[in-house]
Amino acid sequence: MLGKRLGGGPLLTGKTKVLGLLGWPVGHSVSPAMQNAALASLGLDYVYVPFNVAPADLAQAVRGLAVLGVCGANVTIPHKEAVFPLVERLTPEAQAVGAVNTLVREKGSWVGHNTDGEGFLEALREEANFALEGKRLLLLGAGGAARAVAFAAAGAGVSLLLIANRTPARAHTLAEALARRFPCRVRAIPLERGSLAAALAETDVLVNTLPLGMYPQVEAMPPLPPEALEPPLLVCDLIYNPRPTKLLSLAASRGCCTLDGLPMLVAQGALAFALWTGRKAPKEIMRRAAEAALAARQGEPRLGGAEEEGARD
Ligand code: NAP
Repeated sequence: MLGKRLGGGPLLTGKTKVLGLLGWPVGHSVSPAMQNAALASLGLDYVYVPFNVAPADLAQAVRGLAVLGVCGANVTIPHKEAVFPLVERLTPEAQAVGAVNTLVREKGSWVGHNTDGEGFLEALREEANFALEGKRLLLLGAGGAARAVAFAAAGAGVSLLLIANRTPARAHTLAEALARRFPCRVRAIPLERGSLAAALAETDVLVNTLPLGMYPQVEAMPPLPPEALEPPLLVCDLIYNPRPTKLLSLAASRGCCTLDGLPMLVAQGALAFALWTGRKAPKEIMRRAAEAALAARQGEPRLGGAEEEGARD
């Protein structure tokens, strides 16, 4: 049939709405598989296309998407912060976090959202049945994902937030920004074994946002003393390749409950899907598509360089 794509893919027409992903590189991303599966399952006339955009071309790419009538996009590494000044409006979440992971075209303007923090909260609620209110959280990292988790957790009512980062100044800056806005106690601490051991003694939930342990460096893990990982501590790792990471395997072997990064990946994508389409996302279909895309990646030849960094949507 005219126009029908090989392999049973969507029939694209002049009316098909286009969604995109801006990243560099994007070849690794599981978002196209996850979003296209969701769109197809609801019979929506949309297509989600990955765009490999070098940092120097980002401003031009964002303008280009508007000119081409693209109605929404995800933004991934390394553009989540650089896209910030390129949008006309920001949601309070994106403004607070200082990073955008979702663009929505609204009345001729780009609106920048950040669904990572809410995605993390949703994963915690739905997968780990864990409510953060009144809990003490130890956060490893102060990058984009850490900031999204930190603001979401503070907004959800944690009583104590400890932040450990390789570059101490970033942890201090984040701690100060949180302390100005939320009533919880916030402290920046060194990313060192001794400090982390002491911090774990007053922690209910540990959240790793460092890329240590991400494929292909699967033997790496944050400098945590294994003996300090003890129930009832909940251990979360934002990494979803591999599943589980070395950190989560160790925590589980010591009896802790664990949560890997896939539920958050699906939840942040589902929130973006709902913003673009106005429809509730089929999360189970998205999860299965993401798992299949990750499994397919394991069978691919090794690429080297940035493409080897593992999936980082
Ligand atoms: P980012 O903004 O580049 O931040 C990276 C963080 O890791 C910084 O705190 C950085 O410390 C630290 N770091 C990097 N290499 C390190 C090393 N060798 N030793 C110690 N610390 C190191 O990246 P991001 O966007 O926050 O992403 C971080 C991780 O979260 C990635 O693994 C990503 O895949 C994952 N993620 C998952 C989801 C999900 O949905 N599951 C969503 C977003 C991100 P400095 O400040 O010292 O540089």
